[in-house]
Amino acid sequence: MIASLRREGILKTEAVEEALRAVPREDFVYDSLTREQAYFDEPLPLGDTGQTISAPHMVTIMLEELRLAKGQRVLEIGTGTGYNACLLAYMVSRGTGSASGKLVSTVERLEELAESARTNIERAGFSEIVEVIVGDGSLGYPPRSNSENYDRIVVTAGAPKSPPYLEKQLKVGGILLIPIGNLPYQTLFRITKEARSGSGGVTHSEIRREHLMACMFVPLVGENGFPF
Ligand code: SAH
Repeated sequence: MIASLRREGILKTEAVEEALRAVPREDFVYDSLTREQAYFDEPLPLGDTGQTISAPHMVTIMLEELRLAKGQRVLEIGTGTGYNACLLAYMVSRGTGSASGKLVSTVERLEELAESARTNIERAGFSEIVEVIVGDGSLGYPPRSNSENYDRIVVTAGAPKSPPYLEKQLKVGGILLIPIGNLPYQTLFRITKEARSGSGGVTHSEIRREHLMACMFVPLVGENGFPF
């Protein structure tokens, strides 16, 4: 998997490669799937929940685009199996271990998936760094908070539009990655919040939204997502 992601130019940095090697994808897919299937470049079903774990190339693209660094606070919306949360945790905690606290908060709408994700995350050794929250991540976390809490936010479900609380909860200098658009295809957006100094030395922040590529995700279902 790693060799082919390298060949295709999707996997670019050592940091992302190390994370992919450190977190065994086969431990996150459902028991009904084989070990080989875990490494096919395809999204895979999560039991009978109708949800999927993203294909390795999409996971890798998002990890590269996030430009993660040690010590960053990350919010993920759509925990699914907990696989991506562990990759994020690895990248922001490298070398700091459990001393860094809960650097990754991940929100999942379906209780059943959140439960099994917690087990997976524990088994992979990241439960000191990752917290799994059951709730509607389209409102951010804490829900409807206006504080700029996160260096990075990644949404692994497709939203009809960019949820306002997620943009609010992004720190200045932060990156929000989110698939936006109608189903089944979306466009992956990179949203950044930048400081701008205006006249008289007054600084304010400015949101920039850039298209990265076409993608396909299960829907973000919630108050600021698709209707239930
Ligand atoms: N990142 C996951 C895959 C995510 S699939 C992994 O690594 O395995 C998308 C997930 O988003 C599904 O589990 C779905 O239940 C969840 N989801 C959809 N809408 C949501 C919402 N409003 N808040 C939180 N989770 C949501």
